[in-house]
Amino acid sequence: MPLNNSAPADAASRRAAKPAIVYPAGSMPAPDMATLESARRTMVKTHELIVPPRDARAFRVARGQFLRIVSIEGPQVGDLNLWNADDLAERFFSGKTRALHGTHVGLGNRLWSTMPYLRPMATISHDTLSWYGFDADGAGIHDVIGTRCDPYTNLLLNGTSYDYCCHSNLSRALAAELKVDPAAAEHHVHDVLNVFMCTGFTKDTHQYFMKASPVRPGDFIEFFAEIDLLGALSACPGGDCSATHSSDAAACHPLKIEIFEPDRAALKGWSWPAPSAYHRHHGVPRGS
Ligand SMILES: [Zn+2]
Repeated sequence: MPLNNSAPADAASRRAAKPAIVYPAGSMPAPDMATLESARRTMVKTHELIVPPRDARAFRVARGQFLRIVSIEGPQVGDLNLWNADDLAERFFSGKTRALHGTHVGLGNRLWSTMPYLRPMATISHDTLSWYGFDADGAGIHDVIGTRCDPYTNLLLNGTSYDYCCHSNLSRALAAELKVDPAAAEHHVHDVLNVFMCTGFTKDTHQYFMKASPVRPGDFIEFFAEIDLLGALSACPGGDCSATHSSDAAACHPLKIEIFEPDRAALKGWSWPAPSAYHRHHGVPRGS
């Protein structure tokens, strides 16, 4: 029987179905941004570290502290991983964060953790690139679409081995923190928040594209830690991700991580997120 892919008679009316937002923003409890803003005004920097180009560093942020990722020296994209500092099984859930907030995240959005926890790990408390919005190509900043550059896809597509993709950088950084081999740490590495990365989907083929990041030295994105966090940040070998990655071709720059401690009295009354209260029976009656 020949394949019949011709449109049915009612194709137009099927296509005309009205879109419905899957997770309407109004149905989610909003973070108390006024409290965060007053806490920000009291904060003092307690720690900073530099992430060298084509490399990554791990860091810890206590619940209630603020974390800044700062552009220094030149335009550079960062690939961020976050874990619960006490349980690496709870980690950043890029896909659900995208479903809840959109393809790109910004001020007031939250970085959600994997199931069965599904709670905010961090809330974006400041973003100097919030002016960018979505451009004429449909591109935005801080993407939760991409996964991270990695040596496996690079080998698949280019037939070459490259050791300084974000996946490997994050694996090395986490391995150093956990004092294990990178191969023993890499299964903890997960889909990232692409900090400062400018991306979208092409209008004709809906393919994932990147373009030069508009980030400039002095720009930063800032997060409020909702739980104790272990993080790792890679300075992507793609640099500003205007053309290539997974090679030494692009101009790359370091990124700076800064950690701030607020006056804890300013956070009085903050509702710290507990793991999801779902009972986890999954349809199997209790006791069976
Ligand atoms: Zn990368």
